[in-house]
Order: sequence, then C-alpha cells, then structure tokens
Amino acid sequence: MTLTLAACAALDAAPNPLAGAAAAFAPGAPGTFYFDANSIGPMPAAVPQRLAALLNDGWRVARRRSWNEADWLAQPRALGAALAPVIGAGADDVLVCDSTSINHHKLLHLALCVAKARRTIVIEDGAFPSNRYAAQALVKRGVAGLRSIRSAAALAAALAPGDVAVVSLSHVDYRSGERLDMAALTACAHEHGALVLWDVSHSAGAVAVHLRQANADLAVGCGYKYLCGGPGAPALMYMHPRWQAAAWPALAGWMGHADTFAFAPEFEPAAGMARFQVGTPAVLANAAFAAAADIWRKVDMAALHERHRSLTETLVQLVDEHCAPLGVVLAGPRDHARRGGHVALRFAAPQASVNALGQALVAAGVVVSTRQPDSLRFGIHPLTTQHADLWWAVQRLAGILQSNVWREPRFQGASI
Ligand SMILES: *Cc1c(COP(=O)(O)O)cnc(C)c1O
Repeated sequence: MTLTLAACAALDAAPNPLAGAAAAFAPGAPGTFYFDANSIGPMPAAVPQRLAALLNDGWRVARRRSWNEADWLAQPRALGAALAPVIGAGADDVLVCDSTSINHHKLLHLALCVAKARRTIVIEDGAFPSNRYAAQALVKRGVAGLRSIRSAAALAAALAPGDVAVVSLSHVDYRSGERLDMAALTACAHEHGALVLWDVSHSAGAVAVHLRQANADLAVGCGYKYLCGGPGAPALMYMHPRWQAAAWPALAGWMGHADTFAFAPEFEPAAGMARFQVGTPAVLANAAFAAAADIWRKVDMAALHERHRSLTETLVQLVDEHCAPLGVVLAGPRDHARRGGHVALRFAAPQASVNALGQALVAAGVVVSTRQPDSLRFGIHPLTTQHADLWWAVQRLAGILQSNVWREPRFQGASI
C-alpha cells in the first residue's frame, strides 16, 4: 500500500510525548526541509537569550567574579550529567569538553596505559579520518602498532593474536549509516583481553545507545550533531568507572588537578572524570550547549528511539515507492536496529555519483549531505522532523530524478 501525504500527516497528528521538546527548537529557513542533523543539529530556541545573558551579566558586568558566582567551571560535568541518559551512562561517567578528535586521542592513550604490554590498536579501514589519524600518530611516536580491519566482521580474527590493547569502533558508519552491535562486539573484545573505544557521534541523540549496559570501556561523541550543542560544541567523553582512576590523563592540565587553585607544582589527578579536563572550559560554547541539555533532560529516551524508527521507516518506504523505480535506492540497512541516525541512499547504477543529486536537492530546499563515494545522507532528527516533511522531500527527490535537472552543469561542482 502506498504511503500518502494524509497518512504521514496522521502520524504527525497522533499524540506525541516529544511534542514539548520539538517546540523548544527554533524553526529553520522557511520553505526548506532540513535533514542534516548529522552535520549540525537544529538550534534550541533559548540559545540567543542564554548567550545574551552570559555576555551581558557574566562577561560585561561580573567579569572575573563569574568564575565563582556562575557555573562556568562546573559546566563540563553538569553537561555530562545531563547528557548521560542519552548515551546510557551514569551521571558521573561523562564529561563534555574539547572536541571529539581530541577526546579520541586522550582515550586511545589511556587504553594503551592500562593495557600494559599489549600495544596493538585495531581500527576499521573506513573509520572516521580523525579516529584513524589518532591511532597513526601513536604509531609514529613508537608507542603502538596498528591493525586495520575491513569491517567489524573481521574483529575476532584481528584479536586472535592476543596483543590488542584497544579496538576503536564507530557505533554508526558515517557514510552507510550502519549501526554495529555494541554489546556483542564489546564482549568479543573483552574475551580477548582488549578494551573498546566507541564513537557514538552518529547515534547519540537519534537511536539507542547503552554504553553501561553494553559494558563499553570508553566512548566519545560529537556535541554539535544530533545533540544540538551548536557549531563546534564541545564533545562527549565517557569512561567506565573501572578505568577512571586507572592512569594519569594523557593531557594533564590544571583543570584536571585535584586542587586547581592550589597552583601546586606537581600534578595530582582529580577524582573521577574531572581529571580528564585539560584547560579552561569553553564557557560561551557550554552556555549554548546548556540550552540543548535542558531539552534533553526532559526527553523520554524510549519515545525518542521509537519516533526515529517511525520517521526513518517512513522515509525508506517512500523512497522504495517513488525513487527506486527512478534508480535511487537504500544504501544502508533496512532493519532499524541496524541503522544509525541517518538514512543513506545511492544510485542503483554504481558509476553514477550522488554528489550532483545532493546539490540539486539542496537547491530545491531539501538540505541533505553527501559522502564519497556514493552516499546521499538524510540525517533525521527525531525531535524536529515531521513525517509530512519526508513525504514532501521524497516528492522533490523524485521530481529531480524525473526531470534529470541534477545533470545540469551547475550541480557538478565539488561538494562540501
Ligand atoms: C563528526 C564526527 C567527529 C567530529 O570530530 P571533531 O573533533 O568535532 O571535528 C568525530 N567522529 C565522527 C565519527 C564524526 O562523525
């Protein structure tokens, strides 16, 4: 049975426990449909006021007093506690600081410290570039060896020699959108004595992440994608309590000292996650992220995941009905349990690049992104996307395919 606009609208009209959260976001550009939450999540409506208050009351008036009178130094831990339920973590096991790339460096280094004689890092060929570069930098410094695997299916074989310190895995592939089985792969690594460092950038805030339940050791996650922390927002850093006191941080700094304002000449790590802070927190960025954290505190996570399932299954069905006959098909998993935040499409004909198609869609008001070689990504934010938006977007996609407008020279440039 074909899915009509009326059926999509009916899904949107049904009682939705997340409606309050949806209303807490500012609308985007009129006439556009935004499916790029996997690049930059939508803006909480409270952000401008929050920043204005911080600039005026905190910086202009109170100046230095704000360090004591406002929550500036506590924000990395307060934000971590607010976001912990989104990734299935304990409130004290998450810190919001630095960038995903930097936190990945910190955690790889920590894993090598606690792994003693084991020196090998295992990582996928197709992992996000920063994550591979962090591993390569440790190899260059002579402190680690690298074993690349084609996919997670090769993990057990890569672990077999018994020399692996840590496995670095993306929970969701940033191109295909494929989601790995976190609990099963973590158990596999543990059987072989290795730690696992998960990157949850493309799952946190969209689909279920249960770090503690999966017994994950370490994790990082991007703050500015589905979590809506704002452009360049600080990143999530998770550590299972069993590792938090196991070693010194790779990047020891005064904000990680047990007594920061004692200005002691010797580093003494703070208790818990606090030791992994390095320098002064990014106060302006944290104030923006705090507006998103206020929304996340109220989100029913089961309802969030269910809505993401409903939205992405609607998109897949619409693409099957309207676009598959025109040569564009699903590139990622069909089963929602194996899919992350975005739905990836591709041309059925392998030589046709989706780059121009993505540009034509953006010009038609459907904001999507593309990744080489052949992934057209619809990043679905479960708090702000409507089922009817998907219907309209797929009509525009079908129209572009029918008219062949995407073949015009203006859409053939390099993409962002
Ligand atoms: C977006 C993304 C990052 C972002 O890293 P930054 O340090 O914020 O630039 C990291 N890992 C993955 C898998 C990502 O998708």
